[in-house]
Amino acid sequence: MFVTGLKCFKCGTTYEMTPTAYTCPACAGTPGDDGILDVQYDYHALSNIFPDLIKKSGRYDVFRFLPLLPISEPTNVLPVGGTPLVAAPRLAARLGLKSLLLKDETRNPTRCLKDRATAIAVTLATANGYRDMYCASAGNAAISLAGFCANHGLGCHVFVPSEASQTRLNWLRRYGADIHVSTGNYDQAYDEAERAGAENGWYSRNCAFNPFLVEGKKTVAFEMGEQLGWQAPDLIVAPVGDGCTLGAIGKGFRELEAVGLTDEIPQLIGIQSEAIQPLVRRHRGDDSGGDNGNAQAASIAVRRPRNTLRLLSEIRLSNGLMLGVSDEHISSAQRTLAEEAGVVAEFTSAAALAGLIQLAEHESLENKSAVLVITGGRLDSDF
Ligand SMILES: *Cc1c(COP(=O)(O)O)cnc(C)c1O
Ligand SMILES: [Zn+2]
Repeated sequence: MFVTGLKCFKCGTTYEMTPTAYTCPACAGTPGDDGILDVQYDYHALSNIFPDLIKKSGRYDVFRFLPLLPISEPTNVLPVGGTPLVAAPRLAARLGLKSLLLKDETRNPTRCLKDRATAIAVTLATANGYRDMYCASAGNAAISLAGFCANHGLGCHVFVPSEASQTRLNWLRRYGADIHVSTGNYDQAYDEAERAGAENGWYSRNCAFNPFLVEGKKTVAFEMGEQLGWQAPDLIVAPVGDGCTLGAIGKGFRELEAVGLTDEIPQLIGIQSEAIQPLVRRHRGDDSGGDNGNAQAASIAVRRPRNTLRLLSEIRLSNGLMLGVSDEHISSAQRTLAEEAGVVAEFTSAAALAGLIQLAEHESLENKSAVLVITGGRLDSDF
């Protein structure tokens, strides 16, 4: 393994790599952001050899990128990754872009990018002797975990908010998960999951707190880099809830630069729902205002984001920005994606296109290349 250690985003303490590490012990109980640990690697040792190593792996799933993952060997989990970049020339023309590509994560085994993190979680859980796993989720992370646990024969305990849709609960039932419906929102379900996980000694698939799961999500950036001939696009746009997904994409591109594969990193554009946009405010440095509305974009309805420091750091390093969009614009973007690109995204995922359309209204995107991350494809209602 090329892992050199774990570093806390909040206090900067570094720790030795241990497969059961969780949040930073030194930051436990301190107010403000959580002490999220970040996996560090020896990029120098990998420079020049990374492309050969991935080719020699002979794999087209997340384990293709094993040298930059915190695991020593792949496991036989549901195959994740290797998703296509879909060209969207009609949308590119409409927005005045040089090119627009859609990274179609709806093609993963449970129809969502979340599967990339789950693959790593199941690998680490089984390698360390766990028989049960848990997570808190608006739906997709739980469904992903439930599918992988069904395939692997692991106990799966999921904590979902009171407003979880029937569609999502049905998916959880199909996979045979042990379902806990909270009386509150996602943030309450998260606290309940953490408590139950600690009490019962289950393995956590909570992507922000478990430092190894973002490493699975960053493989989406490695794939985009490779599919584009190791050239970063100018812009990458993705919906943001806890901040793990876009934070992971930023890390992935910086790692490609660190091992000498790309010269530039893309500008990251994070999209939240106007009704719940704590990270838009944090990025602006604006403490006023709160989130009292209800957002239809359930998968990013996070009022207390857990991976704030990572996300804000990646946005800053990429010279990126955070935008809030209305449900109305997301709904219209969802139809546009189907009608003008032939891709059916779930409501939350369509926020990425709504954000890009909003950006194009404020600045010229001429001569720019952009990638929208279509994070998931599970429909809660027809459109
Ligand atoms: C979870 C999720 C996101 C946001 O990911 P975070 O890591 O919470 O920022 C975006 N889109 C979909 C479909 C998701 O399920
Ligand atoms: Zn710390």
